[in-house]
Amino acid sequence: MASAPFRIPPQPPLAFTHTPTTTLLTLTQETIALSNNNLNKTLLTNPTHATFQTTILPLIHNENTTVNTALLAALYKYVSPPPSLREASITCSQLFREHWREIEARREVFEVFRAVYEKEKKGEEELDEEEGWFIESGYKGLLRSGAAVQEGGKRGRLEVVRKRIAEICAQCCRNIREDKGGVWCSSEELEGVPADVILRFKMRDEGGENEGRFWVSFKAADYMSCMEYAVREETRKRLWSARMEMCGANVGLMKELVVLRAEHAALLGFESHADYKTQEKMLSAKAATAFLDQLQEEITPYCELEMNEMKKFKRNYLLSRNCNPSQLDDRNSSPVRETQLSEYFPLDEVIRGLLRTFETLFRLVFEEIKEEGRQALMTKQGQSIDAATWHDSIVMFAVWNEEAMGGEFLGYLYLDLLQRDGKKDHPCKISISAGYEKPDGTKHYPSTLLLTSFPAPTFGKPTFLRQRNVKTIFHELGHSIHDLVGQTRFASSSGTAVTQDFVEIPSKMLENWCWDPSILHSLSKHYSCLSPEYKSAWKAGNPEAVQPPEKAPLEQLEKFAKTRNMRWGSRTRGLLATAKFDLLIHRAKNIEDAEKMDLGEIYQRVRREVMGLYEVDGDNWGAEHARSEHLFQGYDAGHYSYVVAEVYAYDLFETKFEGNLMNGEEGRRYRKMILERARNGLEARMLEEYLGRKPDGGAISRAMKK
Ligand SMILES: [Zn+2]
Repeated sequence: MASAPFRIPPQPPLAFTHTPTTTLLTLTQETIALSNNNLNKTLLTNPTHATFQTTILPLIHNENTTVNTALLAALYKYVSPPPSLREASITCSQLFREHWREIEARREVFEVFRAVYEKEKKGEEELDEEEGWFIESGYKGLLRSGAAVQEGGKRGRLEVVRKRIAEICAQCCRNIREDKGGVWCSSEELEGVPADVILRFKMRDEGGENEGRFWVSFKAADYMSCMEYAVREETRKRLWSARMEMCGANVGLMKELVVLRAEHAALLGFESHADYKTQEKMLSAKAATAFLDQLQEEITPYCELEMNEMKKFKRNYLLSRNCNPSQLDDRNSSPVRETQLSEYFPLDEVIRGLLRTFETLFRLVFEEIKEEGRQALMTKQGQSIDAATWHDSIVMFAVWNEEAMGGEFLGYLYLDLLQRDGKKDHPCKISISAGYEKPDGTKHYPSTLLLTSFPAPTFGKPTFLRQRNVKTIFHELGHSIHDLVGQTRFASSSGTAVTQDFVEIPSKMLENWCWDPSILHSLSKHYSCLSPEYKSAWKAGNPEAVQPPEKAPLEQLEKFAKTRNMRWGSRTRGLLATAKFDLLIHRAKNIEDAEKMDLGEIYQRVRREVMGLYEVDGDNWGAEHARSEHLFQGYDAGHYSYVVAEVYAYDLFETKFEGNLMNGEEGRRYRKMILERARNGLEARMLEEYLGRKPDGGAISRAMKK
């Protein structure tokens, strides 16, 4: 990363000064009012006179700014420390959703899109790739939204169904985010869990039955630590069973949702909700189902072998009694003790190493904006330095092209990495502001956020990462890079706004870097080498030991890399099971079929068929099938995208990068041919052009057998 003098970017960073009502809600209401005003002016045009330049482009300019305010308002529900701002943010997102729905429902909008779409088909409009796709997807999207459905009973019902679907999704997400579940455990029950992990847990010290016990919350970091380290099988079993019941309120809501989605699809003339959702994807619902079936057939023999190997380690409750062997305790399954290796992967060090990797691969420069830079940038806008971020733990970068690539500014990257009350618990990339071309032809630069919820450092130790955490950061930062390098004119097609079954491919491809010993070696630094303070703290805990080497031992990393194949099958089957469940429940042909579905039973059956595992006590998977935020946030009938991404990403990696991971020339080519292009409906062709052939659906099963 650059140590050159701080450069002032051509666009100031956002100021995060929002309060619940006076600014966030007001900003939302004003933006929506302005948007309606702009629409009213533009839509005065008689549809027969509508052209891309005179009618569609003004609509796009309006959408660009409205989308960006909606993104900013939505940010706070994921990250805001004050609950009132999170609530206001949820309200604002609902207002924006209603605004989009109102736009979609306006007959004049449909008429101008249809007019320009038909002119383009007749060759009367000459549009470039991004413009052409905007019109085509806009027109088909409006058809999907029911814009062609005439007023009357069907129209009224469509609106009622939509409104209820939105309410259910918002409620289910809130139930997941706000869940406060957990289990009280005694220190005996937590035998094996590292002391620094237990230190994070709240302890009950007043009287009562749980006095002296520790609260293990169902938040991923706490729960997973106990499932991995707790020696006692009954502890893990109790935790697992209790967590299965988490968000039980979602079960009934999810059932109602699946029925409503089936009705919604039928009202619009689609065979199923999955057909409705996949109309413009790379794969149709039918093709996606066939893809999953084929993959299952290909990998099952390999997975059986893997399972037999893993059954040797029956000491683990999760493996011996039920479910997910990918969560298998690594002390039992792996020839390398990964937990010891994690001391070589302190969070801050890994992040910096990772950014250096991306700099080389994609020819970028990340310049951290520290206090002095923040002061300068915020003062210029008349703001205090506190307005630079929403919490004082946030790290901020200005991202540039390297000089040889032109040296232009690309946008801002924010890192919000540590666990906080009320913050989204699942790692992800969040677009804070999309890139687009302004009416005067200049560029609006994007702002993108990497969000994770790692536990905060404890006294004497930084936050350590396991390899899977490093992989997650590679993945999510990959999405941020996609946002930053996108060379697009419209906010709605910038960066990761590509089709859903394509968007995961670039990030999945980057996960392959994390299995390379030389990459892990370059990212590693034992925490005792970070500072004299850490060295003393390490020494205090290990008075007899010799200080470990600065870098993780290469031979251990090589051994670790060999464990990839060991769990590959079970991981892929886990994804397959979720994807098959998702497609099955969303391919109901009508309301009656959907009503007959027992979602919990289907979930259990699919997992058993795909994973080939033992039954759980009483067949009770509780509410797990209704606890994936993805199902409520647009990934319904879309989970298969992760499986497609796993396969195609490996194909890209194997063909272009394996054996030459830091090949900046190939990275530049990949950036240009895949990442920089706007959403264009040609994603399958983009892959084909880059690979020089069609993607290979058998790539991953071949790799497993290597
Ligand atoms: Zn992703």
